[in-house]
Amino acid sequence: MIDPHVHLRDWNQKDKETVIHGLSVAAEAGFTDVFDMPNTSPACTDRDTILSRLALGGDAAEKTGVSYHLYGGITNDPEQVREIVSLHSELFPLLVGLKLFAGHSTGNMGIIGVENQRKVFRILAEEHYRGVLAVHAEKEELMKPGLYDPSDFRTHSLARPAEAETESVRDLVSLALETGFEGTLHICHVSSAATIELVEESRKDLRITMGATPHHALLCQGDAAVRERYLKMNPPLRSGHDRDAVFSALMDGTIDWAESDHAPHTLADKEKGASGIPGLPGMLLLLAAMREKGASEERLKAVFGGNAAAAFGIGMQPVELPSDPHGLYLKLREGYPFSPYPASL
Ligand SMILES: [Zn+2]
Repeated sequence: MIDPHVHLRDWNQKDKETVIHGLSVAAEAGFTDVFDMPNTSPACTDRDTILSRLALGGDAAEKTGVSYHLYGGITNDPEQVREIVSLHSELFPLLVGLKLFAGHSTGNMGIIGVENQRKVFRILAEEHYRGVLAVHAEKEELMKPGLYDPSDFRTHSLARPAEAETESVRDLVSLALETGFEGTLHICHVSSAATIELVEESRKDLRITMGATPHHALLCQGDAAVRERYLKMNPPLRSGHDRDAVFSALMDGTIDWAESDHAPHTLADKEKGASGIPGLPGMLLLLAAMREKGASEERLKAVFGGNAAAAFGIGMQPVELPSDPHGLYLKLREGYPFSPYPASL
């Protein structure tokens, strides 16, 4: 299986997780490949940092048998964007794709506002970038930070409303079309029915894919009333209607693949309100839930590896699915200081 969206921390965030720990968990869960996100500390936006991250990942890959891949981060600096495109063609498939944060992020990786995003798309088109551009889509102008009340973690969902995601995707699709973007636009962790519909509609005009996390497919904002800060992540959990839409779009093939958005924290950071949850075990819970609801083994293989391998253009061995994902989930969640999921779903 492939998990095309993890944050393996390490370096200045070793206390949250190390690459070797993340890859060991991935190996136990049955993953053959993971794709690590570039908002590390320091960030993977330049040649030297990327090479040293790939060395760290390569070392862990050798020890665990899980192939390590990395995304290159895009910044607001036009020269950096050109450099990262050429690094991608040099280092692919280790440098498996590029990541754009269409909102605030670590370092200078937040590409906020349509004007800045247009500049990036223009360069990607000029440089004939044909790989995958994975995007975290949440439009800053539509965020309502005033609605966040730290004493009620459900309000995190109100502060980052679903329309911020949908409208950001609308911007990105029109920028890709306007600039003649030649790659695959991948919308990460879709969380709402409206976004799924918009991406599906856009397929007629461009190469676009979408991924969904286990938590957006299995949980909703009501769960945050009980699990509180352990369910704080971006984009946040949505309504029961949106959760059901994500789950059925994974079942029927509208959503291309599952991605964990694995982003572990220490318990102390979580208590302070950090966003992100350990997601690798959750992939197994999603697999178990989809199988229980009657998804075919063929469909599951596409969702848990086949479709991502095809979209990114990486060769991989046939996808093998664990026979008892739920049992494995229970075992693996013990490797993290907290589990976002209730004891039973
Ligand atoms: Zn992420």
